[in-house]
Amino acid sequence: MDLTDLMTKAEIIRKKMGEDCNSPIDILSLVQNMDNLTLVYYPMGSNISGICIKNKDGNCTIAINSLMTLGRQRFSLAHELYHYYFDENMVNICSKKIGTGEENERKADIFASYLLMPRTALYEKIVSLKNDISSKLTLEDVIRIEQYFKVSHQTALYQLLNCRFITKREFELYMNIKVRREAELLGFNSDLYKPTSEDKQYCTYGKYLNLAKQMLDKELISNGKYEELLLDAFRSDLVYGLEEGGDVID
Ligand SMILES: [Zn+2]
Repeated sequence: MDLTDLMTKAEIIRKKMGEDCNSPIDILSLVQNMDNLTLVYYPMGSNISGICIKNKDGNCTIAINSLMTLGRQRFSLAHELYHYYFDENMVNICSKKIGTGEENERKADIFASYLLMPRTALYEKIVSLKNDISSKLTLEDVIRIEQYFKVSHQTALYQLLNCRFITKREFELYMNIKVRREAELLGFNSDLYKPTSEDKQYCTYGKYLNLAKQMLDKELISNGKYEELLLDAFRSDLVYGLEEGGDVID
C-alpha cells in the first residue's frame, strides 16, 4: 500500500476544504459546505460505520451511523470522503472495524487518519506535550491528543501506531481502558465518547435540502411536496419548527 500517496491525497482534500496541514479540522461542519454532498445521520446497528453512494451526475450521499460516538463519526466521515473522491466504486458500505477488510477499506482508513491527524500536526502536538519526542507517551498524553484532534480513542491510537509514536503493545494496553471516565477525570468534556443524542440520530444536511429549496423557489414543486421532501429527510424540525426558542442575535 502506497502510504505517501494516501498522505498526499489527504493533503489535497484538506487544501480543497481551505485547511492547511498543521491544525485539527472540524470535518462535520466543513463537509456541510461541499457543493455536491448530502450528509445523512442514521442509526445503522453495530457493524456498519457509514455508506457512500455516488451518482453519475457527480452528486454524492454519505450516511453516517449516528449510534457511534462523535469521535468515531468524524473518522467515518473522513473515511467516506476517500470513497467519494478516490474510489471507483459507486456504492460503498463500510464496516466499523478500523484497519480491516478489503484494500480500499484499509486505504480509506489510512486516508481518514491522515486527513484528521496529519503527521506534522501530530508531531507538533506531541512536542508540545513532551520535552523529548522519543519519550514514551502516557495514557494522559493519548487522551490529550485525541481531545485536541477531536477523534475517538481508537482512531488516535491507530494513527499513533501508524506513525510509530506508540508500539503495538502500547496500542493494546491503552485500547483496553475506560477512556470516557479517564478523560472526565482529566477535566475534559466527554461528548467525543458518546453517540449522537436520541433526538438528533436522524438528520440530513447539505445538497438535498438546497435542491429542495431551489425547486420550491422556482415553483417546480408545491409547498406540500416541499414539506414532504423535508420530512423524508428527517427534517420535521424545519416543517413544524420544533426547535425551542427563536433566533438569538449575538
Ligand atoms: Zn469504506
